[in-house]
Amino acid sequence: MTNILESLENNYEGKDLLLCRKAYDFAKKAHANQKRASGEEYFTHPCAVAQILVDLGLDSATIAAAFLHDVIEDTPVSEGDIKKEFGEEVLELVVGVTKLEKIEFTSQEEEQAENFRKIFVAMAKDIRVIIIKLADRLHNMRSLNFLSVERQQRMARETLEVYAPLADRLGISQIKCELEDLCLKYLEPDFYEYLTTNIDERMKENIGLVEHVVEEVKKMLADSNIKGEVFGRRKHLYSIYRKMKERNKTLDQIYDLVAVRVIVNTVDECYEILGKIHHKWKPVPGRIKDYIATPKPNMYRSLHTTVVTNFGRIFEIQIRTYEMNHAAEYGIAAHWKYKENKKEEDDFDSRLSWIREVMEWQGGLKDSKEFLNTLKGDIYSSEVLVFTPKGDVISLPKGATPLDFAYHIHSAIGNKCVGAKVNSKMVPLNTELQVGDVVEVITSQNSKGPSWDWLKIVKSSSARVKIKQFFKREMKEENGKTGKAMLEAEAKRRGFSLGDLLTETSFVRLAARMSFSNQDEMFSSVGYGAVSANQVIIKLIDYYRKTQPQTEITKYYKVKENNSGNGVKVKGMAGILVRFAGCCNPVPGDEIVGFISRGHGVTVHRKDCPNLKQAENDRLIEVTWSGRSDETSYNAGIKVIGSDQVSVLTVVAAAVAQLKLHIVSTNGRTDNRTKQAIVEFNIKLNGKDELDNLIKKLKQESIITDVFRTTT
Ligand code: MN
Repeated sequence: MTNILESLENNYEGKDLLLCRKAYDFAKKAHANQKRASGEEYFTHPCAVAQILVDLGLDSATIAAAFLHDVIEDTPVSEGDIKKEFGEEVLELVVGVTKLEKIEFTSQEEEQAENFRKIFVAMAKDIRVIIIKLADRLHNMRSLNFLSVERQQRMARETLEVYAPLADRLGISQIKCELEDLCLKYLEPDFYEYLTTNIDERMKENIGLVEHVVEEVKKMLADSNIKGEVFGRRKHLYSIYRKMKERNKTLDQIYDLVAVRVIVNTVDECYEILGKIHHKWKPVPGRIKDYIATPKPNMYRSLHTTVVTNFGRIFEIQIRTYEMNHAAEYGIAAHWKYKENKKEEDDFDSRLSWIREVMEWQGGLKDSKEFLNTLKGDIYSSEVLVFTPKGDVISLPKGATPLDFAYHIHSAIGNKCVGAKVNSKMVPLNTELQVGDVVEVITSQNSKGPSWDWLKIVKSSSARVKIKQFFKREMKEENGKTGKAMLEAEAKRRGFSLGDLLTETSFVRLAARMSFSNQDEMFSSVGYGAVSANQVIIKLIDYYRKTQPQTEITKYYKVKENNSGNGVKVKGMAGILVRFAGCCNPVPGDEIVGFISRGHGVTVHRKDCPNLKQAENDRLIEVTWSGRSDETSYNAGIKVIGSDQVSVLTVVAAAVAQLKLHIVSTNGRTDNRTKQAIVEFNIKLNGKDELDNLIKKLKQESIITDVFRTTT
C-alpha cells in the first residue's frame, strides 16, 4: 500500500497540499491511542479513507474532511476547533459525514432502503459528503473480518441496500463493484467461495480465447489507423452472482465472465470499430446497446455488443473513449479530477454544471432529471423523512409537525399526545420537522384529547381526518345543545344576538378560519370545550362589523315577512321568510337561487355569488322573481374606479339622480399602487334594468376607468 503522505505529495500542491497535511497532523494527534477492532492504530482508518478519495481525485477540502471525519464523534475535538483550524467548508463536510454516521439502517424492506437513500442524499446537501461516506464504508467493508458475524451481516446488508446503489447512481462503478463483491463475501460466503475458486479455473481455461479476441481487435485498430487499448476484464462477482440467481443459470451457462474492452480517442472511432467488429463476428440480436446515444441515468456512456466469434464462443465487447472510461470508473468524482483546469468554479451549483450539461444533452430522460434533482436535494421538497426512536423512517408532507408524526404512528398516540422531543430536545407541537430528525412523542393517559387548534397545526390530511373523527365520536348531541347555549350567552354578554351574528355567510368565513365543516360541528366543539365560545363570538362580531352596512339593509328587507312582499317566490313554499343576501345583493332581473338557512328562512343570492360555492347542495332551493316588485326596492353594490374620489362621487351622484335612484351608502379609498380612487356605492333601485342603465351611463364618463357590480 502506498504511503498516504507520499500520495498527497504526488497529487496536490501549494495550499491544497498544506491543507491536507495539516488535517493529517491534526487527526493523527486527535486519534492518538485509539485502536480499531483489528488492533491497528485507529488513525489508519481515516488515512485509508483519504487514500481512496485521493485515488478518486477529489479536492483538498474533501481530503482534509476525510482525515477529520471521525474526530467530532470519537475525540474531544469540537466543531469550533475544526472551524478555527480549517474553515467553514471543511467543517460543513465533517459535520455532514458525522450526521450521516448517526443514521442506522435497520429495516429489511426495499421500500425503506429507498427512503434511506433519499435521506442520505437530502441530508448530505453537498455531494462530497456522500462520496466521503462511500469511501468510509468501503474501508470499513474491507476490514470487516474483525467484527462479529452478526455485525458483519448487518453491515453488509446495509451496504448492499443503501451504499452500493448510491455509488451506482453517482456513477462510481469502482466503489460500487468493490462494495457489492464484499457484501457477497459476507452475505453468501459459500457462494462467494464457489465463485472465486471456479471462476479462476474457468478464466485459466479461457485465457487463450480472450487473448485471441484481444489480438483480433488490436489488428482491426491497426488496420484502421486508430490508436487505442484493448484488454479483457473479468466482470465483478456480484454481477455474475446476480445473473445466475435471476436467470437461474449455472456458472457454465454464463458466457460473458470476461468482457473485452476497447478504449479509443473519439466517438467516431467507437462507431468505426463497432462496425469492424460486426463485420468480422456476428452480433447477437438484441444485445447491441448504444449508451453513447442514450446514456444511462447515472451518465454511463459506452457501446456494448455481444458477438459470436469464429471459434463459436460468445463475447461481450465494450467500446468507449478514454473520457467515457474515466467517467464510468469515477462517476461524479471524475469532475474533481478535471477541476484543476477551471479553478474559479467553486460553488456547488457550478460543480454540478457539467452533470447538467450531460443531462440536457440526454434529452430530458425522466430518470436523469430526477437524478439531478436528487443531487440538489430539491426532489424531496414535498416530503420530509424523519425517524422514529427505533430508527424506522416515516415520510410526512413538507412542513409536518410532531403532531402529524404522532397521528401517522397511530391515532391513539396522536389523541394522547401532550408533547414531543426532536433529536432528544423538547419542542413545541407546531415545530416544523426537518429531514433526518429523530422524533419522539410524549403521551399521557390523562390527556383530554386533541384541541381544536391542532387542526391548524397539522399538515397531513390523514392527521386532520383523525382529529375530526375524534371530535365526531366525542361530541354527543348534548354537547351541541350546550355549545349553542354557551354561544348565545356569550353573544348576549357582548350585546349581540347569536341569530344576527351567525348567518350562512359569516359561518362560511368562520369555517374557513376554524375548520368546522358545519354548524352542528361548531356547536358540539364549543360544548365539548375543544374551542371556546369566546373565540367563536369574537370572530363573528368581527365579521358582523365589517359587513354592517349591508347587514342593516338586509335587516330592513327582513321585515317584509311574506314572500310576495319583496318580489321573490320560493318554489313549493308559501309564507316563508325571504331575505336578500348581503354579500351579492340581488335585484330583479338577476338570476337567483335560494339558500335555506337554519332558522332564518330562505336567503336569496345571485346565482354567480361566490359564497354559494361552499354551500351544501341540498340546502339550495329554486326561487324566482314574482314580478310584484313595485312594492319594494332593492339594494345593489357597485364599485367605481376613477381618477379621484371627489369627481367619482360627483359623477355618480349626478347619474344616480338623473335615473331617479338613491345612494344608500358609499365607501371610498385610494389605491396606493395605481393612485386611483376606488369607491363603492350601495344603490337603492327597482331592478336589473336600472342597474344596467346606471353602469352603462357611468362607463361613458371620461373620468371613470371602470365600473362593476360587487360581491363581498
Ligand atoms: Mn469512519
